[in-house]
Amino acid sequence: MGTDADLVIVGGGPAGLTLALGLLRRDPAWARRLLLVEKAHYPREKLCAGGLGERGWSILGRLGVVPEVPAALVGGISVCSALGHHIARPGLCGRVVRRVELDAALADAARLAGLRIIEGCAVKEVDEVAEGCTLQTSIGEVKAGVVIGADGVGSVVRRSMGLDGGGLRAQVLEVDTPRVAADLPADLIHFDASDRSYAGYIWDFPTPIDGELRMCRGIYVLNVKGGEADGVPSGDGHKLVELLGAYLAARGLHIADCRHKRFGERGYAPAGPVATARRMLVGEAAGIDPITGEGIAQAIEYGARAARLLHEAGVEAAPAAWQARLRGSRLGWDLWVRSRAVPWFYGRSRPRLEAAFAAAPRMLLAGARHWGALPQRWGQVGLGLAEGGLGYLRGPRPMLQGSEAAPAAR
Ligand SMILES: Cc1cc2nc3c(=O)[nH]c(=O)nc-3n(C[C@H](O)[C@H](O)[C@H](O)COP(=O)(O)OP(=O)(O)OC[C@H]3O[C@@H](n4cnc5c(N)ncnc54)[C@H](O)[C@@H]3O)c2cc1C
Repeated sequence: MGTDADLVIVGGGPAGLTLALGLLRRDPAWARRLLLVEKAHYPREKLCAGGLGERGWSILGRLGVVPEVPAALVGGISVCSALGHHIARPGLCGRVVRRVELDAALADAARLAGLRIIEGCAVKEVDEVAEGCTLQTSIGEVKAGVVIGADGVGSVVRRSMGLDGGGLRAQVLEVDTPRVAADLPADLIHFDASDRSYAGYIWDFPTPIDGELRMCRGIYVLNVKGGEADGVPSGDGHKLVELLGAYLAARGLHIADCRHKRFGERGYAPAGPVATARRMLVGEAAGIDPITGEGIAQAIEYGARAARLLHEAGVEAAPAAWQARLRGSRLGWDLWVRSRAVPWFYGRSRPRLEAAFAAAPRMLLAGARHWGALPQRWGQVGLGLAEGGLGYLRGPRPMLQGSEAAPAAR
């Protein structure tokens, strides 16, 4: 197998594989010009809770890819804040998958479409030269016209562009456990953001493991560079094991009995560059939603959008246009809003924001619909914004009982 190509994609996660699929679906002739290098061997683990809204899943469907992987189907979202517990049930809006299975299925689909993948090839360095890029890898030198950095949170391609890790980094600790009596119905994913001492939350997601429905639980703690000025608690030194351990203990589970899986995440930085003359970043290498750490759907959308640009503009011209194309897109706008909202969400306004959500449970329903790519009911959104605005202005009230919102009930 030759190792030089017009376009070399570094990293075979959802971003890199969707990008390849997006090109190959547009024109199978791309197969001759493309190469994907992946440092691991499929099926490979990717530490991730696997929650994927239909917004991301449907992009794969539009590319003609329907990965046949076990999934726990999600019919609603449950959120606990310091001011109450709310459940929104819009109907089927997402699924929880295992990344070891999803990514292998995407790689199979891409191979079937003609993609050359070299597994076990770790990129160590990428140098931009006049006529393209030179990649130093664990299997030797690779030459590329343009390099796509789809290599996730620890992106070597990003580092080779002289960029740092970004100002929004999260620490994440995850465990798999059995389901317990205190768990919510198995069609709900649950977020517990009731502890204001850190910027983040604990999650409980039903997850299919070896034919059995278990729970993936974990804690997401965001570190915001300079966030203290806005009242965002510093995540540094936070004791993820203790916090998650206490949460599990309240459910009769012992963290010492679980295999701890730790990883980082990178939030999107609106001001940061995502391309140079011969390199483009997609997926978590560029940055994902810092508020929730959601990144699979974003990675898929990054890949699909980059594929479209590469096909339309051509390999040589695409990097120069990528920054503007991303910023002008729905994805860029969504990431911009979420990044800018971090100090508001996790800073001094947090109690007021919780009051807004407590006063307007239909906003959670709108959020679940957005995640699930379900049609919005704009009248309800308007009403929710008005209710939420009033709740925000009034500020926190004593703990509310909670609510359950479902289309049938409205
Ligand atoms: C604990 C945890 C839970 C999460 N839960 C969720 C969730 O429930 N829902 C959600 O939407 N998001 C979740 N995320 C975020 C999500 O996992 C990522 O944002 C998403 O995987 C990003 O996709 P990607 O394709 O950009 O990168 P990745 O999925 O990280 O893929 C990058 C690929 O590049 C390869 N690679 C890396 N370096 C090199 C190199 N030097 N050379 C060659 N190959 C390389 C890797 O092996 C990997 O295959 C979670 C993250 C964590 C850590």
